[in-house]
Amino acid sequence: MLHYYTIVGTAIVMFYNKILFKSPTFKDELYLIEPMKILNIKNTLGLLLLTVAISCGETKPETQTETAQNWYKGNLHTHSYWSDGDEFPEVILDWYKSREYQFMALSDHNTIADGEKWVTIREDSIYKNSFQNYLRAYGPDWVEYKIDSGKTLVKLKAYEEYRDKLEEKGAFLVIRSEEITDKYEDKPIHMNATNIQEKIEPMGGANVAEVMQNNINQVLEQRKRTGVPMIPHINHPNFHYSITLDDMISLKGERFFEVYNGHPAVHNMGDSTRISTEEMWDLINISYLKNDKPLMYGLATDDSHHYHNKGKSWSNAGRGWVMVQADTLSAVSLINSLESGNFYSSTGVELKTLTYQNNTISVEIEPELGVTYEISFIGCKKGQTQTETLSVVNESVAAFEITEDLLFARCKVTSSKLQENPIENIRYEMAWSQPVTPTE
Ligand SMILES: [Zn+2]
Ligand SMILES: [Zn+2]
Repeated sequence: MLHYYTIVGTAIVMFYNKILFKSPTFKDELYLIEPMKILNIKNTLGLLLLTVAISCGETKPETQTETAQNWYKGNLHTHSYWSDGDEFPEVILDWYKSREYQFMALSDHNTIADGEKWVTIREDSIYKNSFQNYLRAYGPDWVEYKIDSGKTLVKLKAYEEYRDKLEEKGAFLVIRSEEITDKYEDKPIHMNATNIQEKIEPMGGANVAEVMQNNINQVLEQRKRTGVPMIPHINHPNFHYSITLDDMISLKGERFFEVYNGHPAVHNMGDSTRISTEEMWDLINISYLKNDKPLMYGLATDDSHHYHNKGKSWSNAGRGWVMVQADTLSAVSLINSLESGNFYSSTGVELKTLTYQNNTISVEIEPELGVTYEISFIGCKKGQTQTETLSVVNESVAAFEITEDLLFARCKVTSSKLQENPIENIRYEMAWSQPVTPTE
């Protein structure tokens, strides 16, 4: 019943938007409306009807019909003392929060940070000092620790505790996550489950593709059963070169993978015989579209583990993130936008606007003084098996029309500014928009 009203309400809004706005598709309309257009009178009835639709049920409609208004910065792949990260969750979240991130997911290996876990502080002075800093910052009433045979043991705060301590309504969101850490023979196979509600045990499988699929299915099953939106994403496919293009192409129900991961051992760029994650991304989408699968979207993440030693051999915080355009700062809203492709991935470049309207991608960079930008539009022509660079502009504003002869295209921005703490040979700050297809 609840879904009936929601669906009917959504259908009315869809019909209304389609007719009055003459937009090519409903999806476009959602993706692209600029903030000011929310005041447009034509939208008012649509939003009103939507409000009615929502008020009839407890859950939001599957399809996001509100206008996306804000950019939210977040990192979906982070480690803490709950697994092999070397800092307390609160300190890590504070670090990101103070650097204008609005949402975070601590994704520790095979745990959702519940129950009781104690860590022994390592003898190294770095860690002893960092514990003292933690104790000073949060106070003895918050920090639970004991000394045993000269060693300091500290009880970690569980997800609900660190979330409640750091979260700020409308300003900072902490999403529950797990890095499902599996393997096939000697090949590590990792995937994140963002907004997971119950821990998933690695499922294993008879080959690499099957291991991934079994774990993806667990996340999708939990989503269906609980009704809570959650997304699996494939992590660092080139880590140990475990996951091949064919493995990625075989997946069903996977919409996301890491086109950039800030860990120094993940080979984003590939090597002389193996393709980069960006080349992999395009080839996945060529295959997916030919097989009527939804597009694969590319995430940038930190995969941060090391919060004390800094440099290119450490997995530090702040290297890669996503900017999601959403109406509110909530896991539901962010996941809706991620699944609509309404976001970009960045290692430093900030965009002022990014829209896809009337078959045209428009991008405007938030420019920095003394920095120049190259905006490339990369796409695959129908009938081709590879992408090519279709247009290059050395400006901070550009537009590109996705013509009927294209299978899909996407935008990539490369800055002249060096990334502050890079890995591999990825020297300059970048941003990647998500691929789009021509609409009728
Ligand atoms: Zn991993
Ligand atoms: Zn990781």
